Amino acid sequence: MALMTGEQYIESIRKMNMQVYMFGKKVECPVDDPILRPSLNSVRMTYDLAQMPEYEDLMTAVSPYTGKKVNRFTHIHQSTGDLIKKVKMQRLLGQKTAACFQRCVGMDAFNAVFSTTYEIDKKYGTSYFQNFQKFMTYVQDKDLTVDGAMTDVKGDRSKAPHAQEDPDLFLHVVERRPDGIVVRGAKAHQTGILNSHEVLVMPTISMGPDDKDYAVSFAVPVDTKGIFMIIGRQSCDTRKQENTQLDVGNAQFGGVEALTVFDDVFVPNDRIFLNGETEFAGMMVERFAGYHRQSYGGCKVGVGDVLIGAAAVAADYNGAAKASHIKDKLIEMTHLNETLYCCGIACSAEGHPTESGNYIIDLLLANVCKQNITRFPYEIVRLAEDIAGGLMVTAPSEADFRDPKLGPVIDKYLKGVGNVSTENRLRIMRLIENLALGTAAVGYRTESMHGAGSPQAQRIMIARQSNLEHKKQLAKSLAQIKD
Ligand code: SF4
Ligand code: FE
Repeated sequence: MALMTGEQYIESIRKMNMQVYMFGKKVECPVDDPILRPSLNSVRMTYDLAQMPEYEDLMTAVSPYTGKKVNRFTHIHQSTGDLIKKVKMQRLLGQKTAACFQRCVGMDAFNAVFSTTYEIDKKYGTSYFQNFQKFMTYVQDKDLTVDGAMTDVKGDRSKAPHAQEDPDLFLHVVERRPDGIVVRGAKAHQTGILNSHEVLVMPTISMGPDDKDYAVSFAVPVDTKGIFMIIGRQSCDTRKQENTQLDVGNAQFGGVEALTVFDDVFVPNDRIFLNGETEFAGMMVERFAGYHRQSYGGCKVGVGDVLIGAAAVAADYNGAAKASHIKDKLIEMTHLNETLYCCGIACSAEGHPTESGNYIIDLLLANVCKQNITRFPYEIVRLAEDIAGGLMVTAPSEADFRDPKLGPVIDKYLKGVGNVSTENRLRIMRLIENLALGTAAVGYRTESMHGAGSPQAQRIMIARQSNLEHKKQLAKSLAQIKD
């Protein structure tokens, strides 16, 4: 099958029988739900752009495994050039949606599981790599969206998976059958899972021999019996139910996360990619996290581009664009944003092949990338709020603006420069509000902190990769110290 169009993608998700809950009720048709639809539109953009000749080089690749053109979100990276294109593609999508477009977690899980299963098989003679390749070519051929599911709910953080009071706080195998396994547990804040066809589950931390049942990786369709999702609330989410474009800020696009429960889900043997080989859990985690930390050097930069643009437009509309401090703040925002991009490109350019042949980023630089992302978007948001002014959080509603009595009053008193309508000024304020504090803030702010691992997780990796001994030797040699 050729690449899906955006419309075909939407219809393919509509056909799925997912169990989705929100506000205490089952959502009968998630595809048409006003709160959820913008997140589906964001994933749709990964299909729409792949159809456009001007983006073909970034959005598609030729799969060496099928010989066919595939969407880059299903591609196995073959070179550092592929890694760089991945980051550029993510920046582009961030620019087009100003939201989390969700499909990257599957791409990152794909590349991590590909190389890890190869190495498990080499050690144990298992057939996980073959299983994974079959799944991978199926996804490539059908142009599916895959949710990469790593984060367990984790319970008491001081205890290993097997030592938790409740054994289900890390997803685990509860039954082994001749034809497969049955798993139970929950994955937290699953980005875009309800807009995905398949879920690719991985362990969440390194594991010891006692965690055998927890060292499990597999893929199943998202509407498999036993899987259900509880949608995460986002700030200002119900504005999307109010039939207002203006108050939403970004009416077309959004992101979505869900607590996803695996309530005794059966996984057939040929969909299992890790099952008890505990020492490989850490490798899978480290590689997935590394790829996703690279990803943020693309997606967050693209969203940052929109926020910088919005702040500049707000300055124009406020009549403040010529003030030197405003110009300097826009320069600072750009400097911070491009620094993040430098990190995304650098960890890609310094990538190398794994034993399986696919390319992996430089892990030290990818972790530095994500560590900066736990900080710089906060500063970029702070500067955007500074430039925008208080109106971004105090503007009256669209209902008031459309009211025959109140509308003219708002129009008169909230006008900025003469040649710009009050409505346009309110629109740009609401977009900034959306990115800084509204539904998109999940993806731009708090996800910058915790997505792809919280700051301390990167610091552990930075410590591990920093080769301090080498640096000490450099110093000793120049100081002419002979041990
Ligand atoms: Fe992709 Fe960024 Fe969303 Fe992760 S946070 S899925 S990298 S858009
Ligand atoms: Fe993320």
